[in-house]
Amino acid sequence: MLAGCIASGDNKHVLHYDSGERLGALVQRSSFDHSLLTEARKAGAEVIEGERVTNVEFDQQAVVVSTDKGQYRSDVVIGAGGTHDLVAKKSGLNPGWKPDHVVLSYVVEHEFPETVMDDYFTTKRRLFFHLGFKGNDGYGWVFPKERHLNVGFGALSSTNSNLKQVFLDYVKFCQDLRIVPPFSVSKMQAALIPMRRILPRVWRARCMLVGDAAGFINPINSEGIQYAIESAEIAARVTSKMVRSRDFSNSNCLEYQNACMAQFGRRLNGLRFLSKMILKHSTLVIKSAENDPILKDLALKMLQNAGNVAENKRKLINRFIRNLVVNTVQKKH
Ligand SMILES: Cc1cc2nc3c(=O)[nH]c(=O)nc-3n(C[C@H](O)[C@H](O)[C@H](O)COP(=O)(O)OP(=O)(O)OC[C@H]3O[C@@H](n4cnc5c(N)ncnc54)[C@H](O)[C@@H]3O)c2cc1C
Repeated sequence: MLAGCIASGDNKHVLHYDSGERLGALVQRSSFDHSLLTEARKAGAEVIEGERVTNVEFDQQAVVVSTDKGQYRSDVVIGAGGTHDLVAKKSGLNPGWKPDHVVLSYVVEHEFPETVMDDYFTTKRRLFFHLGFKGNDGYGWVFPKERHLNVGFGALSSTNSNLKQVFLDYVKFCQDLRIVPPFSVSKMQAALIPMRRILPRVWRARCMLVGDAAGFINPINSEGIQYAIESAEIAARVTSKMVRSRDFSNSNCLEYQNACMAQFGRRLNGLRFLSKMILKHSTLVIKSAENDPILKDLALKMLQNAGNVAENKRKLINRFIRNLVVNTVQKKH
């Protein structure tokens, strides 16, 4: 994908990115997940499909995982069940997400002929983000893939009780603007994304939580795949060490949490304030960046999670405040 727009919720202020540089990559989730599974099999994992985990119990010697088809006894369990992970619940690490920790998102994916996709999104596959659509504390997105269009809207579930209607309005809004081709939303999906909090503790004896189960999500752009993979790699390394040494004491699992926080967790926590600030003042931020190439570039970098994120965050906040002050002073004179 070689072009994109970050826009205010009413589409009146738009930051256009079209330098010819690759802005990111979009894939079909099913084929991406399938390729991960193939890699896991190649690496020697035994994959058991078609079984639902129904219970997880811990004792001094082992973890017992029950499914709708059987039972498994193991030295260690890794909770990788996403937002509603049962391991997180049964281990007592997460009794349930609070409404202001989760974003509720609605999404539809529709297939179109490639020629229609080219007409609407060009061969560069121009994508769109609309921040603060209809005053909601969230954003809508239009992600054009090769032949599939993915349109969604997500916001804190605590802020609006009718986000489904906001999503439907967003699709219509994009169609009225002719940003997306006409289609009717027949099958939509809803999902919770735990993007406002990493669990204070992501381990207990013989147990580690990875990915969404732990709340490892970037609060700026809702990306979690990278952290699911990174945390899983760390959990695999720690598990392998425990199994080799037959030492399942707490200190090994604590090492998992420390490594995750050092590698990406502290950075994600540090983005929460910025995420709130951008969503609260989305129109002001975009308006300000429209006339400021430096701020515009910083906004893209934050969305791409590119470069030195902590440094870019600091620069973006400073630049935004500076622009606000300059505008206020200019208005007074
Ligand atoms: C609408 C939407 C758009 C997103 N867009 C992006 C994006 O563009 N980029 C990005 O990086 N991230 C995106 N994310 C976030 C991303 O999907 C997650 O962060 C990522 O999938 C987390 O991976 P995971 O393995 O922790 O959990 P999941 O991908 O949710 O996988 C959990 C798996 O566990 C299985 N499972 C759960 N419970 C049980 C059970 N009891 N028994 C057996 N199996 C079980 C589930 O079926 C599932 O296969 C998006 C999320 C949503 C909802």
